[in-house]
Amino acid sequence: MPDCPSSKRQRTSSPDVEIDPSSAHPLLRSAMWYDDGNVILTAERIQSKVYKGVLSAHSEVFQDMFSLPPLPDEDKKDECSVVHLSDAAFDVEQLLKMMFERSYFTAGPQPMKVVAALLRLGRKYIIPQIYDEALSCLTTDFPATLKEWNAHKNIDFKRILEIDSLEVEAIVLARELNLLSILPIAFYRTAAAPYISHAKSILSDRSLSPRDKALVLVGREELFAYQHEQFWTQSLSEDCCRADARPIFDACFKPPGTLVLLDPWKEHWQYKICEECCEHGKRVHNLTRRNLWSKLPAIFELDDWDVLKANSSKLR
Ligand SMILES: [Zn+2]
Repeated sequence: MPDCPSSKRQRTSSPDVEIDPSSAHPLLRSAMWYDDGNVILTAERIQSKVYKGVLSAHSEVFQDMFSLPPLPDEDKKDECSVVHLSDAAFDVEQLLKMMFERSYFTAGPQPMKVVAALLRLGRKYIIPQIYDEALSCLTTDFPATLKEWNAHKNIDFKRILEIDSLEVEAIVLARELNLLSILPIAFYRTAAAPYISHAKSILSDRSLSPRDKALVLVGREELFAYQHEQFWTQSLSEDCCRADARPIFDACFKPPGTLVLLDPWKEHWQYKICEECCEHGKRVHNLTRRNLWSKLPAIFELDDWDVLKANSSKLR
């Protein structure tokens, strides 16, 4: 892959310059504007001037596009080809940053809308490296194996910046791009948020389909019923630590609507109970987690894990 051109050397310093202010809908320059570039990409009203060679090195779709002979009526500006893209300007900007300012995408948490843009365009323009890197953010935080889920320990999100609507956005994105294997945990995380106000916010959400809203709310009910039956303190014998464990049971379910079924074992659960009951509790809790993991897709009316993984959209 060729080196990316130096942004310090050639890039126009001020982004969002109006290119044609006389127009009713003036075109704007993006921050990705290299004066010696040889192709202008237009998305919505935003134009970026970059290099055909770099686009082609990343994407066979661009390679094919630029290998065609120019049409007689080809759109040109200052001897530079102009390509009109049907994608969102924001998505194109993220894709170009990945190609030309690679260091902007760090190993730390990324905004969901950036991850979504890279998945969308990484797939459309067949750019496996970019697609896979964005996908790894999503599959790290919405994993498809209990082992990967366990690796989270008590950290909620590692690769995606946490915002209120993150879980819902994950469901919507998974539906859009057929990323089926992230759906069970995306649904679980959406259903597991506490408080009845959360359930109400699901009802008024405008991005989830009516069916997915129903799946979240019905699944939430089923998870609570399962938790009520299966949580480990239920199985303690009456004549040992059951009375001492009762406050733990109560604490685990506050605030109202708290789901702890898939949480790892917590040290404060074993406070005040004997060693034998503690070991018993760990065994029961881990067994419950494994059982729930296998039935999680069915709770949200999804196919089994293996089918979801096999049918998830892949680029290679
Ligand atoms: Zn005991």
